[in-house]
Amino acid sequence: MSQPRRSEAVTVGILALQGAFVEHQAILQKLSLRTRLHVVLVRTPEDLQQCDALIIPGGESTTIALLARLAGLLGPLREFVRVKPVWGTCAGAILLAQSIEGAKKGGQELLGGISVTVQRNGWGSQVESFEAPLEVEGMRDHERPFHGVFIRAPVILSLHPSPSDPPIQIVSRISASLLPRTQTLVPLDEDDTDPRDPRTIVALRQGRHLLSTFHPELTKDDRFHEYFVRECVLPSVA
Ligand code: GLN
Repeated sequence: MSQPRRSEAVTVGILALQGAFVEHQAILQKLSLRTRLHVVLVRTPEDLQQCDALIIPGGESTTIALLARLAGLLGPLREFVRVKPVWGTCAGAILLAQSIEGAKKGGQELLGGISVTVQRNGWGSQVESFEAPLEVEGMRDHERPFHGVFIRAPVILSLHPSPSDPPIQIVSRISASLLPRTQTLVPLDEDDTDPRDPRTIVALRQGRHLLSTFHPELTKDDRFHEYFVRECVLPSVA
């Protein structure tokens, strides 16, 4: 895979096997940046080869992994994650986790790449989906909250920093008081929640990778996409 020269467009792929890939595409195509952005829907190893970075959308992590295997993409995706920036939203975040709890019976395949353990569907089922305003560190106009949409979202259970990996950087935490009262799987009591509890983390970075447990592509706000391109993608192709 050759590195683009500065004057060329940067190619960002979106894994387009299942889930909210069209919504990511719509936001990326409207981003106004100095660098020209070329957006590719990735369905084959050849599509992936064109990309400088990748977004793995929300949807269903088990289905995405199964379709990736059928498309001959699992190996190429694992290799891609080792060398290029990847952002996983919700199901995509599950795929990027080092390990998960609540996996499908019989197990499910992951790509790995980010040193965290997540609990799949950790805030409960579809009916316990919720929305909450979030503060996102380093985002444009960061004092204006970002609208977080959580749909059967994973919960970050633990971080596994290691001197041999890039450091983990917390990008956004949810206030425990904004969590739905009905959530059952991972009770977080507003009164005795340690502000450093990993379960309150909803977005983080590790090296060139980004993870969000919510869905920025389901809003009209392009700031999270801009953040990924500016902070993770452009520095890695410069
Ligand atoms: N719970 C889903 C999964 O396991 C993720 C849900 C989502 O992406 N909105 O993949």
